[in-house]
Amino acid sequence: MVARHIKETELAAVAAAWARSYRVLAPVREGAAIVYRVFSEDMHPFLGRPPTSSAKEALLPQTENLFTYKYRKDQADLTRTEVFLSEALPPEPTLILGPRPCDARGRHLLDRVFLERGVVDPQYKAHRAATLFVSVACTSLQNTCFCHWTGGGMDDETGSDVLLHPLNGGFVAKAVTPAGEKLIAELPEATAQTLASLDERKAAAQTPDQAPEQTPDLKDIAGSFLAVFADLDFWTDQSARCLSCGVCTYLCPTCSCFNITDENQGMSGRRLRTWDTCMSALYTLEGSGHNPRGSRAHRLRNRVGHKFCYHPREFSEAATEPSGLEFSCTGCGRCIKSCPVAVDIRQIVLDVLDKAREKAAETAGAKGEEAK
Ligand code: SF4
Ligand code: SF4
Repeated sequence: MVARHIKETELAAVAAAWARSYRVLAPVREGAAIVYRVFSEDMHPFLGRPPTSSAKEALLPQTENLFTYKYRKDQADLTRTEVFLSEALPPEPTLILGPRPCDARGRHLLDRVFLERGVVDPQYKAHRAATLFVSVACTSLQNTCFCHWTGGGMDDETGSDVLLHPLNGGFVAKAVTPAGEKLIAELPEATAQTLASLDERKAAAQTPDQAPEQTPDLKDIAGSFLAVFADLDFWTDQSARCLSCGVCTYLCPTCSCFNITDENQGMSGRRLRTWDTCMSALYTLEGSGHNPRGSRAHRLRNRVGHKFCYHPREFSEAATEPSGLEFSCTGCGRCIKSCPVAVDIRQIVLDVLDKAREKAAETAGAKGEEAK
């Protein structure tokens, strides 16, 4: 596919042109945060750092109307009630500008949950069909990034429609999907010299002084997780600092827990879907008062297990990663950066591997003793 070029000074004009056909969500600085806002002509999209919030809100809004309803009592027979439903309006065509490759990979992972488990979520499907991702490749890793652990990378194209590669005061725009190709078709072509500079920069990123630190071997992580699953002392230690605030899940590009509530006003109302978090005790609290994940240890175990054990086990056959493993973590590092008490999922994963090795050694030692 032909690569295009956007000068940084022309980015707002390009976004304005896209905004004629799409609701464009673009990242802007608000205090210390970088958040997505609906693009307007006086806005200056900021693509210099990864947005604070993830791009999942374009596909799975924090709160959305699923449908509205009205009741009508049959006055001749008050045991009978008629219910009228109105479906939510279809989502607006939306273009999200500025997700990083880890966010775009999150879109691919949300597809697994909402489209590929045998039950298709109609609301998600509609958002998915209406949304384009124009992502921005990274040129360096922040100290919380670990996309290279989880099958991604600074210029991974998974889940993007267009990937913008920052270069010399502008961007080389590469289409990933046919929709992306159409979107950038009118932009000027990148010159051969620009493309050569991009190749040089990518090659430099692989040299030992710039390449990311070595990736831990995660091929046994799912089995290791299961080996330490029942060790509640381990999980109690890991979760000792956790406040159950849920920030880690709200900002995560792949977390997909939600709750459904009805808002009634007299004889009418609406049904809403709202983000929820498995890190909250209320998430699994049953009507009987029993809570199968009643402690922070249980809840943190579930979050880590979902990302590094349950998802890879469920989707290992479909995985496209060379390792044959697909995690439901993209290594974006938001949960690490935003956790108020510095819980670091990377350290938990490494501790799980260590603990499982320790347990395996103990078991082997015990068997050796028995055999004597
Ligand atoms: S952000 Fe940190 S403190 Fe809050 S729920 Fe997640 S791990 Fe716990
Ligand atoms: S678990 Fe943390 S690092 Fe992994 S995708 Fe979610 S927020 Fe990013």
